[in-house]
Amino acid sequence: SSSMAKSKFEYVRNFETDDSCLRNCYIVVRLDGRNFHKFADQHKFTKPNDNRALGLMTHSARSVMAGLEDIVIAYGQSDEFSFIFKKTSTLFKRRASKLMTHVVSQFSSSYVFYWKEFFGDQPLLYPPGFDGRVVLYPTNHNLRDYLSWRQADCHINNLYNTVFWTLVQKGGLTTTEAEDRLKGTLAADKNEILYSEFNINYNNESAIHRKGTILIWEMQEETVTKRTKLPCQEETDVTVTRNRRRVREHHCDIIGEQFWQEHPDILEH
Ligand code: ATP
Ligand code: ATP
Ligand code: MG
Ligand code: MG
Ligand code: MG
Ligand code: MG
Repeated sequence: SSSMAKSKFEYVRNFETDDSCLRNCYIVVRLDGRNFHKFADQHKFTKPNDNRALGLMTHSARSVMAGLEDIVIAYGQSDEFSFIFKKTSTLFKRRASKLMTHVVSQFSSSYVFYWKEFFGDQPLLYPPGFDGRVVLYPTNHNLRDYLSWRQADCHINNLYNTVFWTLVQKGGLTTTEAEDRLKGTLAADKNEILYSEFNINYNNESAIHRKGTILIWEMQEETVTKRTKLPCQEETDVTVTRNRRRVREHHCDIIGEQFWQEHPDILEH
């Protein structure tokens, strides 16, 4: 620290490189579970979607947002989550390594810390890891395309996994047979298999699985009643209303215009 005298070793600090993120850009930190295909098997995740696992991911992401106030929106699906810092953020002097490691370590420790709340008595067999990366986007258009890309990925994977596991679980196919059956099929073919063979309308599947999870800040009016006593007066109830910022979860489309029109404060204009 600054109060200490400098040692002859101090020069090594100059080997650190400047990794501050370009100004005027959105900073995206995306994390992804390491080897979660195996992790899911070992922890008996239900297929295609384990809601305990999704709940734990979202809870961990909330813990990240609560600790890093400049995050304006987060998007998650499967074993990944993206956190978007506002363009004007000066948190940690915009140092990429600081931002990324704070996000990923807070997320990882939360995932372990809250495991029991979602998986109950089922033990966590080993400490899971997550990778992280930083990407900068200079325009609202680029940022929206980034989020659209992740949500489109969610859709493509979930449609595939839904048909695949329906063929296995309800159609009695082996995993190899289901894989062969889906080779070369388009989205329309997959919808058709679900509808004609299993009477499933994909659009009626739950939104959290089809669209993923969006976390944004929302102002919420909070009313609390306080019992107060002024000197020489009787006790009275006083109602105090205040606005509190809290994280709200959505599972809607973010590719089209509607979400952005309904939440014009997320992006800077
Ligand atoms: P920052 O978030 O900037 O790192 P910090 O509070 O973690 O802030 P550091 O310079 O990293 O600041 O210092 C870590 C502090 O944690 C020490 O100054 C000390 O007070 C405390 N600490 C860490 N490890 C121990 C330990 N083993 N025993 C006692 N105190 C410890
Ligand atoms: P890598 O280390 O390269 O990321 P990975 O095995 O984690 O490898 P991903 O492409 O990240 O590969 O895919 C994550 C996998 O984790 C999915 O394919 C799925 O098998 C599993 N998975 C993650 N979340 C869930 C969930 N909620 N329900 C069921 N399976 C899940
Ligand atoms: Mg991967
Ligand atoms: Mg992964
Ligand atoms: Mg992944
Ligand atoms: Mg410290």
